[in-house]
Amino acid sequence: MSNRRSFLKKLTTASVGASLLPFSSFARPATRANSKYKKGLVISTWNHGIPANKAAWNIIKNGGTAVDAAEMGAREVEKDPTGQSVGIGGLPDRDGNVTLDACIMDSNGNAGSVAYLEEILHPISVARKVMDDTPHVMLAGDGAQRFALDNGFEKTNLLTEASRQAWLKWAKEAKYAPIINIENHDTIGLISMDKNGDLAGSCTTSGVAYKMNGRVGDSPIIGAGLFVDNEVGAATATGMGEFVMKTLGSFLIVEFMRQGMSPQEACEEGIRRIVERYDVSSIQVGYLATNKAGEVGAFAIHPGFNYALYKNGKNELFNSPSHL
Ligand code: ASP
Repeated sequence: MSNRRSFLKKLTTASVGASLLPFSSFARPATRANSKYKKGLVISTWNHGIPANKAAWNIIKNGGTAVDAAEMGAREVEKDPTGQSVGIGGLPDRDGNVTLDACIMDSNGNAGSVAYLEEILHPISVARKVMDDTPHVMLAGDGAQRFALDNGFEKTNLLTEASRQAWLKWAKEAKYAPIINIENHDTIGLISMDKNGDLAGSCTTSGVAYKMNGRVGDSPIIGAGLFVDNEVGAATATGMGEFVMKTLGSFLIVEFMRQGMSPQEACEEGIRRIVERYDVSSIQVGYLATNKAGEVGAFAIHPGFNYALYKNGKNELFNSPSHL
């Protein structure tokens, strides 16, 4: 463990507990905050990160912006009917409704988000429209759908036969109880850096499978499922959203990076914030982060979280290290 890290650990556990470190405690390390990586990169969650990164990279390699890349990468996964955790084909809630959550942030600190959106194929693009064309950050439910329809999006049945069958099978044995479960957690969270060194991100999901009707997770919440600060870095989350929301994980990780931590150290501290407060024996959360220098980090509570990184001409899957 580096001296800096053990110092941070001592400081966080001993004197300031679980609170944020005072900003003035740290000079910004020149190698982190000041060096800009200008070759572009994309990082995203799970196996579907590979096609998502590819779609995002197609934008970046042609000189496109990070935010266009973030949107295109997310769309690639949303439109795949075989994926049961994002967009069409997503597993429904306990009552059989597919409800989608998504958010996007650009490099100017703008943000857009939709929650509990039904029957729209590309929630990430609706979130982008909220960001670009309204004075608001978040639209939810019927209002979000009306906004989408008014802006040329069409109604699509998102419940595929495979997901309907899976739900019917689940419903046969399921005791209908409004409990949090970990039956499914495969959101796509994606961070892109363009060749100008600018950062953006996207996050889109059908949420936890067989959730209570009306449940919204971390993925559309700016600062929880995603946070981008173009001066510092960006982070995104997957897993049991309630724990990401209770600790505002992505914002926390970006703030840790602002204080001088590497993306890896910051992701580990973000997970530590959860595991030191909650029983995580059946809870999975995974974080991904990158900074302006193009360094990346990943950390999860349990083994099994993986991510795709497109950097230096290679698009590869990596297993994240974990707390347990
Ligand atoms: N984070 C998502 C949620 O809680 C689940 C996931 O990662 O798939 O809605």
